[in-house]
Amino acid sequence: MRKLAKEMAAGAGLAIAALALLSGVDFSFFLLPLSMLALGALVLQGRGSLSPRFNVNAVGTGDNSSIPKVTFDDIGGQEMAKREFLEALAFLKESERTSRLGIRPLKGVLLTGPPGTGKTLMAKAAANYTGSVFLAASGSEFVQMYAGVGANRVRQLFRQARALAEREGKSSAIIFIDEIDVLGAKRGKNASHMEYDQTLNELLTQIDGIRSDHPVQVLVVGATNRKDLLDPALLRPGRFDRIVQVDLPDKTGRLRILEIHASNKPLSHEVDLELVAAETQGFSGAHLESLLNEAAISALREGRESISQFDLREAIEKVMLGEKSNRSLQQEELERVACHEVGHAMISEHVRPGSVASITITARNQALGYIRQNPKDDQYLYTKEQLLDSIKVFAAGAVTEELIFGQRSTGAAGDIEQATELAKRMVYAGLSHLGIVSAELPKSDLHAAIVEIIKEQEESVQTFLAGKIDIIRAAAARLLEEESLSGEAFRHLIASWERSEAISS
Ligand code: ATP
Repeated sequence: MRKLAKEMAAGAGLAIAALALLSGVDFSFFLLPLSMLALGALVLQGRGSLSPRFNVNAVGTGDNSSIPKVTFDDIGGQEMAKREFLEALAFLKESERTSRLGIRPLKGVLLTGPPGTGKTLMAKAAANYTGSVFLAASGSEFVQMYAGVGANRVRQLFRQARALAEREGKSSAIIFIDEIDVLGAKRGKNASHMEYDQTLNELLTQIDGIRSDHPVQVLVVGATNRKDLLDPALLRPGRFDRIVQVDLPDKTGRLRILEIHASNKPLSHEVDLELVAAETQGFSGAHLESLLNEAAISALREGRESISQFDLREAIEKVMLGEKSNRSLQQEELERVACHEVGHAMISEHVRPGSVASITITARNQALGYIRQNPKDDQYLYTKEQLLDSIKVFAAGAVTEELIFGQRSTGAAGDIEQATELAKRMVYAGLSHLGIVSAELPKSDLHAAIVEIIKEQEESVQTFLAGKIDIIRAAAARLLEEESLSGEAFRHLIASWERSEAISS
């Protein structure tokens, strides 16, 4: 009980500090007493033992059980990953049937994929599905400066898992090791490799020691974003022999994740989550959860009872680009930013009509303004023409500045970087005038090819925009007034300008 109180004091101290940090509160005044409280409690907790106690998290439902509440239904998308994982769990769920068929019990499952895609959720759902106790630890917690500590912690973890299952009368335990690449990196590669190697060797020994006739079945679930770093010994059959890829969600997956996280939030009737799913290509589950949370905060700030499409649009931009910054630009700079962004938008509409979702001159993070484009459908392959069109959109900002103000500015640095990246992709995909090239292509040839691709696109953009100066000025003036224009408003503006041009000519 006293231990619990100390842990709670430490946890509360750290949680308050983290919350204050996340919510942007200036908490420097509280920092010292809070951290001393947390530190004091942690020191007390480790007192009396030679090495500090290893903190394993047994996640429970709050009813004293160590089985998590999360189920596979709480995980959106990831249908393939769920199917593969469920198959791997059959030996825990239907042990008699699988042993009758002579199936060797699985000892380890490796979940691999980008951050925030739901790997931890999957491991918890697996424990819930199989009725196993769940212990979580992170790879970085094992590896210490002193040889032997990590190996000891690995032994401790497996012992704790079995003891916990026995205490709770469960026949299985899932040990989840996040960031397993820290502890399972290729041996001999680390500076303090003795400690790393001993820790990994102990993990291999413990996995090999998992026996199917033990009253508590143990399954180790590892998670990593860097499978390429893992020691091959970990991946050989009989150890982590089931590898489940947990990828970024596709549009259907994103919609399902949005629905899951919107289920406890009031949405206005006009909200279109499908549109949000379409506009968030590249978002992980964690991004989408954060997006809905930010939208709810925006509704609260505006004094609304429910979340509107406006709140969701604001939240997408916040998650994509970060917090609004309060940099105040001079009028001349603002005009330049407005023309720059309108230039991007003009070309975006030209190469793909209907593609502009919004144009903004509100500064966020490093961006002084930005346009957001509507991806039609998730796309994994790009043709040469599509890549050239994207380069045109990137080039348009600087070209517009040159046409209107006579010279370019440093505001286009980010665009050049992205255009260069695309041009480089084209070269290595054999889509440039060089044809197929190898990785040994001399740097000077690569540079020349990139410059040529971008220059050609700039010229074509310049020819097109030179005939649109009036509408660019008009749209920029409107943007300066309103700070943000929706794609529809922008298209409407262009259409009425084109109509009046046609009448006057
Ligand atoms: P990391 O690699 O950074 O450890 P992870 O892949 O383990 O990340 P989780 O910790 O499982 O990611 O996810 C973080 C949070 O993001 C979850 O608590 C949940 O709110 C949300 N989330 C992520 N993926 C999904 C998903 N597929 N469905 C629903 N929510 C998700």
